[in-house]
Amino acid sequence: EPAAGTGSSARPKLREAVAGLPAYKAGKAPTPGAGPSYKLASNENPYPPLPGVLEAATVAAASVNRYPDFGSGELLGVLAAYYDVPVEHLAVGTGSVGVAQQLLQITTGPGDEVVYAWRSFEAYPILARIAGATCVQVPLRDERHDLGAMADAVTERTRLIFVCTPNNPTGTVVHRDELERFLDRVPSDVLVVIDEAYREFNRDPAVADGIDVYRDRANVCVLRTFSKAYGLAGLRIGFAVAHPPVAAALRACAVPFGVNVVAQAAAVASLRAGDALRERVAALVAERGRVLDALRAHGLAVPATEANFYWLRLGERTEKFAAACEEAGVTVRPFAGEGVRVTIGEPAANDLVIAVAARFA
Ligand code: PMP
Repeated sequence: EPAAGTGSSARPKLREAVAGLPAYKAGKAPTPGAGPSYKLASNENPYPPLPGVLEAATVAAASVNRYPDFGSGELLGVLAAYYDVPVEHLAVGTGSVGVAQQLLQITTGPGDEVVYAWRSFEAYPILARIAGATCVQVPLRDERHDLGAMADAVTERTRLIFVCTPNNPTGTVVHRDELERFLDRVPSDVLVVIDEAYREFNRDPAVADGIDVYRDRANVCVLRTFSKAYGLAGLRIGFAVAHPPVAAALRACAVPFGVNVVAQAAAVASLRAGDALRERVAALVAERGRVLDALRAHGLAVPATEANFYWLRLGERTEKFAAACEEAGVTVRPFAGEGVRVTIGEPAANDLVIAVAARFA
């Protein structure tokens, strides 16, 4: 006999916005077994933590019986010096995706509109829908943000705009002049988030540095992460740079103690290890060049990428390609019917994908 209230018709009222929410699709881990197995499905950094970073994380782990520093004070101080911004302009969060969620919380409620390019980072529609907002997706043009169309899409209900550069999953970038023209058209009471999760991999001098752009614009917020170039994806730490009203609201909306003590220590150590990390990023950028040259030599069309991944628009052949990569021992990220996003990883892993791609040229 079920207890009162556990019958099949008993159910708590949930918000309509969360019913039927699409699940976030995490990159697939390779199945362990015979042969090589590599994961190129989540835009991770293939390098393990630097010894000094691991050491700092280990030392911090000894105090996990205590709550972390609530305000991430040491980290904010080091970040402020590193990026030459006032400490009050910073807010950290549980990954940059956690900060993105806070950005929605501080700007957007039911009926409000969130504008972003599509296809782009798949968390945007999920987070916007959780907020009860209406998603306004502006199609990419030639795999790039169509900023003119995005500005046209702004209405009096628009509260937040995401500009993802380099764009996940296409790797394409937004140039400084087009970004400034776009920002000139956006009303100053609409918050524009420049998501620069992959910024450190950029080598195109025409690309704006969001942290330069935000300085003159009270409605611009820059999103960065320790997950990609810094190689700390497992520790879940990201940050925003924004003017004080926005940064203060972000801090007020943070999950208390959401940035843990190990993550704070590892992030501080990573910022102090700048040169060693920059060398690793340079090696990945060089590897990206080698991989793109090889793919194009096989006749594949690969859009120019400034990120640690590349995009193959394979349409109906997407799932077949992903299955062939898996067969070869590599997981990649398929978007059914559209294309495949492949992370730049270890050279041996990249070579396995190049060999598969040659058969799809
Ligand atoms: N922004 C973009 C564009 C991303 O691709 C990702 C990760 N896939 C994130 C933000 C979130 O990364 P994290 O939460 O690890 O900082």
